[in-house]
Amino acid sequence: MSFQEKDEPIMVSAIEHYSYCPRQCALIHVEQTFDENLYTLRGRAVHENVDEEERHEREGVRFELSLPIWSERLGLVGKADLVEFHGKVPYPVEYKSGRQRAGEHENLQLCAQAICLEEMMGVAVEKGAVFWHSSRRRKEVVFTDEMRSRVREVVVEVRKMIAERLVPPPVNDARCGLCSLKGSCLPSVVGDRPRVRRAAGELFVVSD
Ligand code: SF4
Repeated sequence: MSFQEKDEPIMVSAIEHYSYCPRQCALIHVEQTFDENLYTLRGRAVHENVDEEERHEREGVRFELSLPIWSERLGLVGKADLVEFHGKVPYPVEYKSGRQRAGEHENLQLCAQAICLEEMMGVAVEKGAVFWHSSRRRKEVVFTDEMRSRVREVVVEVRKMIAERLVPPPVNDARCGLCSLKGSCLPSVVGDRPRVRRAAGELFVVSD
């Protein structure tokens, strides 16, 4: 891992964004684009419910809401929506507003939270859970070695993308339909290379 002190830490959430779509990650973390829409409003409402730093205890399990987390080794910072403490062992729970999506995106973000908690607290964190608010479904995630390696790879890729201010081309597939940044990204326009070239050419046509 090549994080050095001169590098800026990256947000834990960037791992999920990058896994879902590298361009989405770049629009948020390189260009600071943020579009409010139904999905982000829902997401915000869900996170606001768990966004006050608080602690509770129920049946011997301590709960920390909105817990600041970090990893100096990987150069990560963020907040965990909810961390349950089963004895001394933290168990992160990530809240999502929508329904479960295909792919490993949420699992990677959760695994990155676990890596931060392990470094902060010096204990192994082997599992956590994702909770989908719309379906009220909670799924346990076991952090495998492959998942941990993928987190480390994504961190390196995101750091390079941010350092070089790269914005990848649109994926222009089914992912775009659920993406909060579709309005800024314009995937079907930007992804249509001939159309973009034609439009760029027309910029320099001088009419009489
Ligand atoms: S609209 Fe599509 S290409 Fe653009 S950021 Fe979203 S998922 Fe990526």
